[in-house]
Amino acid sequence: MRIANLSGRLVLITDQDTAVDVEQLSEGRFAADPQAVYARWAEFRAWASAITLPAGVPFAAADLGAPAPAARQILAIGLNYRDHAAESGFAVPDGLPPVFTKFASCVTGPVTDVRLPDGGQTDWEVELVMVIGTYAYQVAEQDAWDHVAGLTVGQDISERRTQLAGPAPQFSLGKSYPGFAPTGPYLVTPDAFADPGDLQLGCAINGEEVQKGRTSDLLLSVPVLIARLSAVLPLSPGDIVFTGTPAGVGLGRKPQRWLTDGDELVSYVTGIGELRQRFHS
Ligand code: ZN
Repeated sequence: MRIANLSGRLVLITDQDTAVDVEQLSEGRFAADPQAVYARWAEFRAWASAITLPAGVPFAAADLGAPAPAARQILAIGLNYRDHAAESGFAVPDGLPPVFTKFASCVTGPVTDVRLPDGGQTDWEVELVMVIGTYAYQVAEQDAWDHVAGLTVGQDISERRTQLAGPAPQFSLGKSYPGFAPTGPYLVTPDAFADPGDLQLGCAINGEEVQKGRTSDLLLSVPVLIARLSAVLPLSPGDIVFTGTPAGVGLGRKPQRWLTDGDELVSYVTGIGELRQRFHS
């Protein structure tokens, strides 16, 4: 099953890539607010799996918003691929990797224009993003997928000067300029994948591939992350987790490379879809 946020309204996506409005189809049983569905996720899944979808309406990707536009918590994981840890100059973390937030104001839909901070070194990080479907606190690894509503594509856009300046790194601030957390285009439920633990992801700048990896190479997989994070704090329905990026970011290149005025960044996870960001100075 695929859902999306179309112009602020929750929609189901048909096999023909058209949209069906959930509030209308359910005759008001489920609200139009895309974030509200996660609080009733099991009920929504049961309803959606029992209905026959009508034809739906075509739409433009630019009209899609974030699948979880008002998450209470946004967690993001650093150094969660071996090759990215190496290019960043760090050893593979022993135990929990770095965990930070992207502040809620930077979350957007999949097709956007993003302003580059003045004097910055703005970098790209394609990531698999999970959205929590049911309350998860001190969850065992083997039960963790049951708490995932679905998966989407995310870009953990990062301004490296702000991120790395000062007496201690400012990960959360450097990764939270406006528009720095595009997500989408759809939320895809785990059962829709042959193996939700092995998806290809990557991104390209102006058509040139810069990152390509597989989520089977995550040091801490989706279920392990849920177990480790929920050992510390509860994850609630609608919370989102950026799971980390593979190698190929600008920071790790020789010479280093940053996004510049006019660049177009296209990011994808196979089986989910793509994000498209145009950068402006
Ligand atoms: Zn990241």
